Amino acid sequence: MLLPRRAATAAVLCLLPLAAAVPAQAQRPPTHETALPIAGPLAGRVVAIDPGHQLGNSRHLARINRPVWVGLRKPCNTTGTATNGGYPEATFTWQVATALRARLQALGATVRMTRTANSTRLWGPCVDVRGRFGARVHADLEISLHGDGAAAPTHGFFVIRPGLRRGYTDDILRSSSTVATYVHRGLLGAGFAVSTGYGGDGYDVRRDLGTLNMADVPTVMVELGNMRNAADARCMTSGRCRDRYAAGLADGVHAYLVR
Ligand SMILES: [Zn+2]
Repeated sequence: MLLPRRAATAAVLCLLPLAAAVPAQAQRPPTHETALPIAGPLAGRVVAIDPGHQLGNSRHLARINRPVWVGLRKPCNTTGTATNGGYPEATFTWQVATALRARLQALGATVRMTRTANSTRLWGPCVDVRGRFGARVHADLEISLHGDGAAAPTHGFFVIRPGLRRGYTDDILRSSSTVATYVHRGLLGAGFAVSTGYGGDGYDVRRDLGTLNMADVPTVMVELGNMRNAADARCMTSGRCRDRYAAGLADGVHAYLVR
């Protein structure tokens, strides 16, 4: 359909030089290709990072509670949790995400994020958008960062991979499971311990999470620690510890992409 239309445009503008008749948009490469680095082991690879809930979600509850379809009806998003001292999950995941982005970019990867700011004025995006994001930016994988808010005295990280939901996760089940293994190994290598809850092996499988159900590239979610646990909270509020999270996640992503 494009060629005849362009031909028609050229015919109408036949007195103009040929270059001027070509729509400006057609000359521009897609944005995901403009920032491709030229060196590094991950050159040409694209990683999508979802830095969890937006900081302003709690101020936009009507929008956040609006149901979206992700294989089941779910709220658009939630507010996320916080440490007992009031350090929000949104800020924690934002800080880990930007540290992870820097490490992946240093390896040559192109990094795209589902949110580009951490602000009380902003909300979302909804879980269906987060899930579709990886495919939209042609990512090799998507990793969604969270902090748990379990009241139970659990501590440590766990990696969540999609369970089988036909028509939704069949296409990414195996690849996401592989990503989960590498990310799990990366966090262990950075000195983190697996969660004492959720079966105790540091893995969880979910069929009800929009970010996983709507994904069309290998996708995992990571609960990096329990923000309600005093020891985990101490670590999560420390910049050095957040950089260690980023190092472990980057190791996992790197190892998966060059396996
Ligand atoms: Zn969360």
